[in-house]
Formats: sequence, structure tokens, C-alpha cells
Amino acid sequence: MSKRDYYDILGVARSADEKEIKSAYRKLAIKYHPDKNPGDHEAEEKFKEAAEAYDILSNPQKRQRYDQFGHAGNSASGGYGGGGMNMDDIFSQFGDIFGGGHPFESFFGGGGGGQRGGRRVARGSNLRIKVKLTLEEIAKGVEKKVKVNKQVSCHSCDGTGAKDKSSFHTCKTCGGSGSVRRVTNTILGQMQTTSTCPTCNGEGVEITAKCTTCRGEGLERGEETIAINIPAGVSEGMQLSMSGKGNAAPRGGIPGDLIILIEEVPHESLKRDGLNVIYDLYINFVDATLGTSVEVPTIDGKAKIKIEPGTQGGKILRLKGKGIPEVNSYHKGDQLVYVNIWTPKAVSSEEKELLNKLKESPNFKPQPGKSEKSFFERIKEYFE
Ligand SMILES: [Zn+2]
Ligand SMILES: [Zn+2]
Repeated sequence: MSKRDYYDILGVARSADEKEIKSAYRKLAIKYHPDKNPGDHEAEEKFKEAAEAYDILSNPQKRQRYDQFGHAGNSASGGYGGGGMNMDDIFSQFGDIFGGGHPFESFFGGGGGGQRGGRRVARGSNLRIKVKLTLEEIAKGVEKKVKVNKQVSCHSCDGTGAKDKSSFHTCKTCGGSGSVRRVTNTILGQMQTTSTCPTCNGEGVEITAKCTTCRGEGLERGEETIAINIPAGVSEGMQLSMSGKGNAAPRGGIPGDLIILIEEVPHESLKRDGLNVIYDLYINFVDATLGTSVEVPTIDGKAKIKIEPGTQGGKILRLKGKGIPEVNSYHKGDQLVYVNIWTPKAVSSEEKELLNKLKESPNFKPQPGKSEKSFFERIKEYFE
């Protein structure tokens, strides 16, 4: 029997990349999976053929040898003679082909989670919560203690789902392994397949009387206070996850994850812009003319800043390192202070008289010179 070309088997071009090869194999593996085609020798044959083609083409060295020398290229080192790959090898490849939550799981007997050939382990669902943070908390990082309402292990049966110890047995059909093996004869020789134990549905245990508190689920509603360490620098919409802090799984499985969605509480006077913090400062034109010193809020207390005499509106002052740190980095943003000149919206008759006198003075005539930065230059500086 002459072997078919590996690229033809997978139905991909010789130039196909890793992703295309993986995807083509995934489709064939699902189509010809023995659990889906019980007793169909042709499907089994195709299943093994595809697995072998994938094994060679997914390995850069083996693929190169195959491209150069054809099937002979790999016969000396781990190639496949008449027998092809055995089923255990094929299934052990699946870890990197099928991630969690793939529809493939359903061929293994339904339900969430589980591992081929081993005891089925149930998985709890993920739990989502929102955490509101102030700008100060974001800047420094914070530990938040959050009380969550979730599914926990049933206290009556300790999560086993059994009424008592005597109603909890190791499954007799599979001896607790959760899977049964079947040996079939094919033209390529004896082939072993593994499938989920039909008696215990892969759980490895049999329960003869169910816990009355949880009706055999092993779960109940409960509360847990969870300390969540939030690193400095997170932002609105970011998601953090804590593995194993979600809902408990039925009958002693692996708990799900806690997914934490970050929400920012707006600050009363500071605005966040990425890693920078922005503050709008208003001074009157007298202070702008004569110079002054003002206090501005920052994310850690007040800071004094100097306004030079002759400061124009629109100037941007930078407080270095007073911004938000980048997550998991030493890099930190700045606080930017926008200087706005406050123009009175109403004046008394005396003020009007004074202002009209000042207006006549030559110094009050706008005379922007080369030393004045344009609006665009200021914006550019800000983005540096
Ligand atoms: Zn219970
Ligand atoms: Zn069993």
C-alpha cells in the first residue's frame, strides 16, 4: 500500500503555514473521530492518516525532511511504518490542538471540562464582579476585600453529593479511572480506543444515595470574602482574573475563576489621560502678569507650583512622575497643569474704569513674539 502525500491528506498547499495545518487537522480529527464514527474502519483509517500527516507537518524538522525526501525522510527517526501512530499518541497530541471549551469536548461525553482517558473532572463556572476604583487607588494599587455570593461546596456532604460515606463508591465498571478501553482489530493491527465510562459518566465514582441538602450536586449558595490585589496602573474596562476563586464545581471538581472588571470613579478635579493626569488651573490676568505661586491637587496631596510673571494662557506645566504608573512597570506618567487665564464675566463700574485705564497702556496691547509657543507646539510638547 503506497502512502498518500501528507499535504493531500490534510488538504493544504505545500506553502501552508503552521496555523493552516493545525486548522485543517482539527477539522479532519473532528470529522473522523472514532467516538463519532463507532465501528467505521474507514473513518479510523482516515483519522490515523490525518494524525500522522499532522505529526510530520507540524514539526519543522520532520516537515523539512519530508519535503526533501518524501516518506523515506522520516522512516529512520520516528517515522511510521505499516502500523501508523497508535491511538494514545494521537490523543496525547490533542492537548495543543483543542483548547478548553472546544466543541470537541462534547464527543467525550458532554458536560464541561474533562480529560480524555482520565477521570472526568467537572469545572465550576467563572464568576464576574465589578470593582470601582478611585484615581488614587489606581495610582498606588490597592487590596480590595469583596464579599461575593457564589456557589460553594455543600457543607452537608463536603461537596461529594453523596448522602453519607456508605453511599459513595468507586465505580465498578472503570475502577475509578472514568474511562473504559476497547480493543478492535483493524487491517493495521490491533487498535485500542478509550472512551468515557458509561456507568459513572467519567466521574469515577458511583453515588447510591444523594445528599438531601444539595440533591447530589455537591453545591450550595454561599458567601466568600475575597481579598483582591489590584496592581497600580489598571484602567477602566480592564479585566483581572483570579484562578480558582469562581464558583465551586459539582462534586469536588476544579472551581472556576473570578473575573474582575475594573471601573474608574471620576475624580472631582483631576482627569486621567492614559498614564498622565490632567489638571485645569485658572488664574486671573493679574497673577498671570505679576507671577504667583499656587497649590494644585495631585494624586498624592497638594503640590505648590510657581507661575512666572508674564505667563500666557494655554501654557502647560509638567509635574514629572506625578501621573499613573504603567501596570507591571517602573514607567510612570506625569501630571500636566493647563494654565487658563480667567476672564471676569461681569465687572463693577469702578473696575470698568480701572480696566479702561489699563487698556490705554502700551504693555496691554497684545504683541506675541517669536518666544511665544504656538498652540501646536504646546500640544506637541504634551505628547512627548
Ligand atoms: Zn450536599
Ligand atoms: Zn466508571
